[in-house]
Amino acid sequence: MSFLESLFSLRGKTAIVTGASRGLGRAAAIALAGAGANMALVGRDEAALAEVQQAIQSHGTHGSDRPHGIVADVTDPGKMMETITSAVERWGSVDILVNNAGIIRRAPAADYSAHDWNEVIDTDLNAVFQWSQAVGKIMIEQGNGKIINIASLLSFQGGLNVAAYAAAKGGVAQLTKALSNEWAKYGVNVNAIAPGYMLTNATAALRANSERSAQIFSRIPAGRWGEPEDLAGAIIYLASAASDYVNGHVLVVDGGWLAN
Ligand code: NDP
Repeated sequence: MSFLESLFSLRGKTAIVTGASRGLGRAAAIALAGAGANMALVGRDEAALAEVQQAIQSHGTHGSDRPHGIVADVTDPGKMMETITSAVERWGSVDILVNNAGIIRRAPAADYSAHDWNEVIDTDLNAVFQWSQAVGKIMIEQGNGKIINIASLLSFQGGLNVAAYAAAKGGVAQLTKALSNEWAKYGVNVNAIAPGYMLTNATAALRANSERSAQIFSRIPAGRWGEPEDLAGAIIYLASAASDYVNGHVLVVDGGWLAN
């Protein structure tokens, strides 16, 4: 194995990616599979998961087994346990968890409904803790593991009309540090990625607002919105031996937005 492979190869590893059916989760799954990991792809849309399985297989670089799509809502604890158990039964371990599934609901804070608030907090924060806890126990037992939470620029900033999302993503950044403090000594690395403004469904409403879209664009030093594939390097880094001494970090991948 070359020096580079010893740092970045994920051969023999098993990864679970939540929200793998499209957008950033799809790109993360393709990246991890490209580095050799066996993949469990979690989402609610069976057809979209099948398309991602197909995309991974057509790249020709993936783990020893074909990717496995699992139809599950991340907020359903029963489905969560089934998913984790089936990955362990199939591949013997869970080495990488990417907590990516997320939703955003937009409304002025004064009118924000309790329903939207609860749905966002359940999906974007509570589920991140529940999946981390369930997989973390396995990783502690096996003495190693990588948990990567997908945070946001709104882990640092308040945003506009997205109070629940900002609260959840701020929580994700703090949860990352809290879990890292407890689990680093067991060989479990808990880190997060904070993507900038990326071209996915989640930002379609922003791009449809020409004034807001122009404001956002003008602040990105890289001069473009991010593509989902822009996360691939950060995902592989935080999933691989290359980051074995990186703990509790929130890695910003934003074309320079936060620095500006
Ligand atoms: P998309 O809307 O394109 O994708 C969201 C993914 O999450 C889908 O695969 C969706 O799958 C899944 N998902 C949502 N809710 C659930 C649920 N209850 N159970 C299972 N899966 C669920 O968004 P992005 O790819 O943009 O977002 C991915 C993550 O990145 C989110 O956490 C988001 O907050 C974060 N992020 C995105 C940024 C951006 O600019 N796009 C910036 C910063 C952070 P399905 O609907 O099939 O179940």
